[in-house]
Amino acid sequence: MKNILSYNELHLISEQLDGMLLKHIDWLSSLHKVIICKLSSGSLKMHHSNCDFGKWYYSVDNPFLNQNPDFLRLDVAHNNLHAIANQLIDQYENNKTPSKENYELFIDSEKTFFQLLHNFIDSVLATKNQFDYLTNIPNRSLITLMLKNEYSKFLRNMDSEYVIAFADIDNFKHVNDTYGHATGDSILEKVSTLFSNKIRTSDIVGRYGGEEFIFCFSQTSINDAVNILERIRSELQASPMSIDNSKNIKVTCSFGVSTFQANISLDESIKQADDALYIAKKNGRNRIIHKPYIFD
Ligand code: GH3
Ligand code: MG
Ligand code: MG
Repeated sequence: MKNILSYNELHLISEQLDGMLLKHIDWLSSLHKVIICKLSSGSLKMHHSNCDFGKWYYSVDNPFLNQNPDFLRLDVAHNNLHAIANQLIDQYENNKTPSKENYELFIDSEKTFFQLLHNFIDSVLATKNQFDYLTNIPNRSLITLMLKNEYSKFLRNMDSEYVIAFADIDNFKHVNDTYGHATGDSILEKVSTLFSNKIRTSDIVGRYGGEEFIFCFSQTSINDAVNILERIRSELQASPMSIDNSKNIKVTCSFGVSTFQANISLDESIKQADDALYIAKKNGRNRIIHKPYIFD
């Protein structure tokens, strides 16, 4: 999926950042201890790109992070912190007591760096929290934002087609009632994984709520989008799901499809897809219906 990092990537980055934060705190504690207790400075003096954080920071090659303002601000702050720390260590090694001004500069650079690092960790966590906790795909708030972005792109560049689609698992209440809520949850996870794996990197899918999902296919004709959905629909129908290696549960989905149109709002396009889904359900489920082409 495009535009943003996946849940797993965000999870990995937030774990790495927690590790970096702790390592930097350790390094600062050692520096204070060396100067206060008059110990050997050992390997504390280093270029900013050689500490663990620096090594990680300069190895990141990801457009999402490399454009994130909080991430970019860390570079100068981190560089500054090490430069001032190195001056303090030089003074200390030359048997000079660091001046009050230098020490204050050091403390300020330390505060700035940690403030920025916390801001960045917060922004990673905020993005991570916009993924659905069960399925790890974008939740309703994030997918709505992504749809708005796609709709703006469509309006700016009206020569390409955009398709949106609702998917709703059929008779899901019955699945829950028959096999239990935990099995229902496993099915939601499997269906989400199938959806994510079957779409292209330029497409998006999110959990709209309950057992309902929404797709957006950018720069895609209605025929191509329906072909992708049809592959998903038939694969679901043909492959009953094995949960806990014992049950083979037949899961089907209904789809309502619409397109972005210049003369109607995003909300109206979403409503058309929802109306089409309603017709798919009414006409017997496990099918794809698209609006406005077949009705208007
Ligand atoms: P239809 O084919 O008309 O869509 O019927 P349905 O049974 O799928 O629709 P209905 O709206 O009657 O029921 C949806 C069910 O989805 C009821 C609700 O408990 C279940 N559900 C919603 N969210 C979750 C969830 O996170 N986990 C589980 N296990 N069930 C959920
Ligand atoms: Mg349903
Ligand atoms: Mg529903």
